[in-house]
Amino acid sequence: MKKTYEMLDKSDVLQRARKIIFADRDNTIAQHKALTLVPAFSRHEEKRADFYQQLMEAEGFESVRDSVNNVYTVIRGTGNGPTLYFTAHLDTVFPMDTPLEIRMNGERYACPGVGDDTAALSQTLTLMRAVRDSGIRFRGDLIIGGNVGEEGLGDLYGVKQFFKDHPEGIDGFVSVDGFPHSIIYGGTGSYRYEVCFSGPGGHSMADFGMPNPIHAMGRAIAKISDVKVPAKPWTTFSCGVVEGGTSVNSIAHDCKFLLDIRSDSKECLDRANEEIMACIRTAVEEENARWAAERDRDDVSPYKPGPGELPHADRVVSCRVVQVGNRPAGSQPRDLPLVRACAADYEYFGYETGYIAASSTDANVPISLGVPGITIGGGGTGSGAHSLAEEFDPAGLEQGVYEMFMLIAALLGVDGLSEPLLPPLK
Ligand SMILES: [Zn+2]
Repeated sequence: MKKTYEMLDKSDVLQRARKIIFADRDNTIAQHKALTLVPAFSRHEEKRADFYQQLMEAEGFESVRDSVNNVYTVIRGTGNGPTLYFTAHLDTVFPMDTPLEIRMNGERYACPGVGDDTAALSQTLTLMRAVRDSGIRFRGDLIIGGNVGEEGLGDLYGVKQFFKDHPEGIDGFVSVDGFPHSIIYGGTGSYRYEVCFSGPGGHSMADFGMPNPIHAMGRAIAKISDVKVPAKPWTTFSCGVVEGGTSVNSIAHDCKFLLDIRSDSKECLDRANEEIMACIRTAVEEENARWAAERDRDDVSPYKPGPGELPHADRVVSCRVVQVGNRPAGSQPRDLPLVRACAADYEYFGYETGYIAASSTDANVPISLGVPGITIGGGGTGSGAHSLAEEFDPAGLEQGVYEMFMLIAALLGVDGLSEPLLPPLK
């Protein structure tokens, strides 16, 4: 595989592409900054999808906008080659009203979402330009663009939709959404829930003795925090958002938290899931039982239902668990041709490959469907992902883009130069 890279790198057409990519640096950065300023909270990507599509069309690329706002272009090959779907995600973790402003810090620039994944998104445009202007002819077809729904409650709905629309015919998948020179080749599965507690609610003093949804939620979170999970396969859980209640002197009528459970193995995921669901059920039972035991004792709880009010037995906290995320887990061998081809690319350029056995990325979807998929890093380095202080360091950006260009060329094969490194699925 290294030989393929050596040969391609020395060819006129790849050297032309290299020059184009290096000369495009300022333009890449300008488009990156412009894209960063368009908010794109998961499931609210329309505006950014519009802008990205405009940028593509302004360059003369025919774009496809699918039913969920994935945007891509298809660059047909000369034939007899595999089809590669190469994508970066359009969405960010930041709500639509998050102030977006680019702050310079020397060469680095900062803004929420700047690294994850807008840097890679802008680089897909650079890659398209380099394909067009270098005149390279791939053997296989390249589908390249931006997809929605990678982050949070997006639940990978963009890539899920893409593979619904393309149940066959895709031989490989590359998502650019990682650390430089890394390869994520497995999919961490996750279940995500909204856990909602509710009760009649009332006055904090007058109705004292009534089960309290917020107390029930507190009990549930305390129990969940004590759940033991294996470190191998890596299994984790977290209550990420809590909300609810109306005032300091009210017993809330509802509250909720968001829960994320993950594992590299489906079996461990299911086991942790079961245990955590039991914690939630027990918490509700305990909250109700605690007040049921005391409410008839006037010295503890003078609260008695008045005329027309619900009887005691009905004044309970209940809980509703709504699954809001289900990311499929999946694994594939590290010696898969797609993984080896990407590692050979990094190694040809003198980098050590950072293998990551599993993570939760868009590649989960193809991997779970049996389509080879990886998530890799692009040009430049992001830091502080998912924080308001997120930064991007463009050092080496153009080199990283060229490495991606080489990867695409090697995977698809180049007309008259090389055989595709990506085998067709059937
Ligand atoms: Zn990302």
